[in-house]
Amino acid sequence: MQRGGKGKTPRRPALKKATNVEKDPVGVYCRIRPICAEDEECCVEMISSSTIQLHAPDGLKANRNGEYKETQYSFKRVFGINTNQTELFEDVAKPLVEDLIRCKNGLLFTYGVTGSGKTYTMTGSPGEGGLLPRCLDMLFNSIGPFQAKRFVFKPDDKNGIEIQSQVDALLERQKRDSQQSVPKTPSSRQKADPEFADMISPEEACKCESVDEDCCYSVFVSYIEIYNNYIYDLLEDAPFDPIRPKPPQSKILREDQNHTMYVAGCTEVEVKSTEEAFEVFWKGQKKRRIANTQLNRESSRSHSVFTVKLAQAPLDADGDHILQDKSQVNASQLCLVDLAGSERTSRTRAEGSRLREAGNINQSLMTLRTCIEALRENQMYGTNKMVPYRDSKVTHLFKNYFDGEGKVRMIVCVNPKAEDYEETVLVMRFAEMTQEVEVARPVDRPIYGLAAGRRQRNQAFKDELSRRLEERGGPSNADDPVLLNQLIDSLPALPPCELVDPADDQTLPRLIEVLERRQHIRQMITKQVNQTANTLKSMLQQFDSQLSAKETFLHDQRSKLSEKDKVILNQKSEIERLEKKSKTLEYKIDILQKTTGMYEQDKRSLQQELEGREQMLQKELAERRRMEQRMQGMVTDTKYKWEKECERRVNAKQLEMQNKLWVKDEKLKQLKAIVTENSSGGSHPAEPPPKPERPSRERDRNGPQERSASPTPRPTVPPVRPRHRRSRSAGGEKWVDHKPSSNLDLDTVMQPIIPNAIKVSTPNEKALSKCHKYVLRHQELASDGEIETKLIKVKRKIARSVRDFDDLPSIASDLKISSHTSAVFWSSLGPFDCFLCPPQGDVFKTRGGGQAVQFTDIETLKQECPAAPSRKRRSGSEEGPAQIEDVENRAPAGGLSSSSGYQKRRKP
Ligand code: ADP
Ligand code: MG
Repeated sequence: MQRGGKGKTPRRPALKKATNVEKDPVGVYCRIRPICAEDEECCVEMISSSTIQLHAPDGLKANRNGEYKETQYSFKRVFGINTNQTELFEDVAKPLVEDLIRCKNGLLFTYGVTGSGKTYTMTGSPGEGGLLPRCLDMLFNSIGPFQAKRFVFKPDDKNGIEIQSQVDALLERQKRDSQQSVPKTPSSRQKADPEFADMISPEEACKCESVDEDCCYSVFVSYIEIYNNYIYDLLEDAPFDPIRPKPPQSKILREDQNHTMYVAGCTEVEVKSTEEAFEVFWKGQKKRRIANTQLNRESSRSHSVFTVKLAQAPLDADGDHILQDKSQVNASQLCLVDLAGSERTSRTRAEGSRLREAGNINQSLMTLRTCIEALRENQMYGTNKMVPYRDSKVTHLFKNYFDGEGKVRMIVCVNPKAEDYEETVLVMRFAEMTQEVEVARPVDRPIYGLAAGRRQRNQAFKDELSRRLEERGGPSNADDPVLLNQLIDSLPALPPCELVDPADDQTLPRLIEVLERRQHIRQMITKQVNQTANTLKSMLQQFDSQLSAKETFLHDQRSKLSEKDKVILNQKSEIERLEKKSKTLEYKIDILQKTTGMYEQDKRSLQQELEGREQMLQKELAERRRMEQRMQGMVTDTKYKWEKECERRVNAKQLEMQNKLWVKDEKLKQLKAIVTENSSGGSHPAEPPPKPERPSRERDRNGPQERSASPTPRPTVPPVRPRHRRSRSAGGEKWVDHKPSSNLDLDTVMQPIIPNAIKVSTPNEKALSKCHKYVLRHQELASDGEIETKLIKVKRKIARSVRDFDDLPSIASDLKISSHTSAVFWSSLGPFDCFLCPPQGDVFKTRGGGQAVQFTDIETLKQECPAAPSRKRRSGSEEGPAQIEDVENRAPAGGLSSSSGYQKRRKP
């Protein structure tokens, strides 16, 4: 027997008052009992399966305002007068029994005025068993085959349950059996108290399907009565003195380690069948009735609480015995409460002590009402109002259901008779309020970590074992009388030991001898048996150790197996993955192969096309060569023909000309002869006639060449061109007059007069930007000693950089500008990276992407000395004073001229 630690049932985790705990409202059902007499006035009407309507009876037809009262009340379900006990049980109590089997607590109570059918609903009558017997029946139908042997579970005195070993339980069973001669459990329903015998017909029997077969169960019942706020144990075995009846001892309420309220020292009877449980209940009922009679009590004013406690613990791994582990014992309970009548004291016409009692009864129901109100308020408005559970025993006992967890259901019983109307209204109001209270839903208990189906496996094993033993000729049984007889027969037979003669001294010694022999044999047998037992014991120990070794080995193998299983599982998934991958790749390869085939076909067709074209090309080439050869032949032929023709014609012409020449020569000769004849006759000798020159082809050809080599014959221009009388610069346009400081100041009269000109010695950007025209003044002594002024004019253009004009010195020399002057000029441009108005000409882009510079105009003003010997005389010109030579050479656009225009090409 395992004993240790105080707590016998596991401490439930303290229920957190967290808001996320699932809650269910209190299930409130309404049952209307049939009216007693048909002509009686009825004030309750069921208008739907969940609503009833109350009509005020005739005497009370109007309220204070004179209005008629018709009030409706809704519940989870309303059961009408025709509802039978089975129907009610199925709907209301069955789920509570199922919960009980699943280790969840439940509370079911009936509420209503006296005579409304509370006891009928809870207990019922023969043939119409109420909720209580039905609950018990269902419970035993469900757990019957899985019940533990009596006394294996044992309630302690702290509301917990202990587990006893099989041996302790057996001893306790034997003790009980020896104490009571009559067997406790009736073998059939018929043997039970006739009052409860036929409460439930067998066809109405029901059971819970989801029972954990790998657990062992035990049912304990207790039955208490709360009267006048005292708790009495109805199952207590206190001897009742009929002569001087003593009031029974009241019990007190205590809180266990799980903060559950329980009646301290209350009798809990272990019951193994519905009948046994009925019997216990009946015993309590009887006691209650006797007390009521003896103590002159009103039965309707007491509350009765019948508690069914279910203890359960899992079977061990073999499925043979209960697991000897206290922490695995679970206990759940279902409280079936038949409350006292809820009517007010005045109605009961009680007097004296009875009035006080009635007041107390009402007080406990009032407390219940107050508690429900406070709970509802706290839950609905989030307040933290104190709930006065402790004010009455009833509420204090059920504190855990409302405060902790469990399923609470209430059946409101209604008697529709008019007499009860006012009380019924109060009951309805209380009931409606109660269903607004929520109770925490019980949580599922964790399943113990042993493989399921242990019980079944063990049973199958036992069956198989007995079958095999039967096959081998049945089990060897030491108690077998045949075996015993054989053993006795094997002993030496006792000699006849009848003493007839007092002097007989043989019989007794013979007997002693035989008995001694027998004793000896017995000792030997005992010794042998002991030896065999020891051998067997050691063998068993050996087997045991072997078995445990095998078990550990098996365990190891199992764990290895599970590891291997895992590996296999992993590999399987890996294989699957790879298979998928390979399938994808195969598909890709397929596609690629198809693509390759297509490309190869394309390639072949293209190659064929290429070959065809090459052949065509070859053909064409050969054709062309042939044509060329033919054409060449034709050309040679034609050329040859034409050459021949030309030669022939030339020869013919030559001949003709020679002939003509000859004719002329002849004529000339004749003329000469004539002239000679004539002169020989005159005084003055005549000059020889000019020899006629025969024109030749060579001379014709040389003629123009000689003309081009000679300077262009200057057209006979007037000495001063009217267009350029003074200077072309003297126009209306704005000029930049650039006179380099290096110029010789010769004070010559041949100075250009340019109005509005900006005179600068070095060109600057400011001046250039203001003008459109630019002139470079250049004066020097000419080679013949005369002063020569050159005005180099340019149109303004945008140039890119100074580098564009690298060749300027050579241009300047061409223009007879001293390189010194040009150098000065360029040095003055130096600071500008980019500048306007390059001095030597227009700058423009060429077609090849380069830049070109073009001089646009040069005016040369030359002053000639009249006495100079090398003075040029112009044909057609007369001698006179100093003559101004205004030379203007305009360069043709795009033309090349060394004197007036110059083009420079620059590669980009
Ligand atoms: P309470 O316990 O509320 O005082 P009881 O259960 O003792 O009331 O019922 C009073 C009487 O009414 C009993 O005789 C009972 O048989 C009868 N009765 C109550 N409810 C029903 C019902 N639903 N059907 C038939 N009879 C009923
Ligand atoms: Mg009753």
